[in-house]
Amino acid sequence: MILITVPHAACRNDQLETRRCDRRAHEAALALARAFATRGIAFRLHINTDVDRTVVDMNRANARGSTAWRQQLGVLMTRPDVSLVLDVHSFPRDSFGSGYDVVLLDDTRVETGRFLEDNIRFADRIGQVLGHNRVALLAGEGNDIQDEALARGLKATLVEFSEQTDDLSTIELEQCANAIALYSIVKQ
Ligand SMILES: [Zn+2]
Repeated sequence: MILITVPHAACRNDQLETRRCDRRAHEAALALARAFATRGIAFRLHINTDVDRTVVDMNRANARGSTAWRQQLGVLMTRPDVSLVLDVHSFPRDSFGSGYDVVLLDDTRVETGRFLEDNIRFADRIGQVLGHNRVALLAGEGNDIQDEALARGLKATLVEFSEQTDDLSTIELEQCANAIALYSIVKQ
């Protein structure tokens, strides 16, 4: 089973200057869910739509033991049929440098100097769809959902999608989701 998490989907009252949520992550997670469902791959969505990140950032270590959403996620991660955790985010224009429309973040790069093999292959698959110049694989840090999954011996990928539909169209987002789902079949 693929576990699809969206820690920053609490977008209510999101008209303030301060950025409070990932505005396209929920849409991206649903696209992934459709891509898995189409291929008969079992998945589970775990989406935080209640607590916005200015209150508690669900992707940080302090949320792990102190929030119901993360505690529920911890229980889901102990299920023996979970093979991969896909942590889904979105970013506003130019967050990771101009030109990138999909970014994979990899915390292990910071500690080991190497990217996870899964992330290298995910980036390649998505790059085949969008063009490799639009996809980046970068070192992350403090992404606690990925960290918890890896610590539990699971595979874990953090994927960020552009929120600019003129940069990353709805169809391209769907194509990225399909590329990830196809890759997941290969790995099963
Ligand atoms: Zn996020």
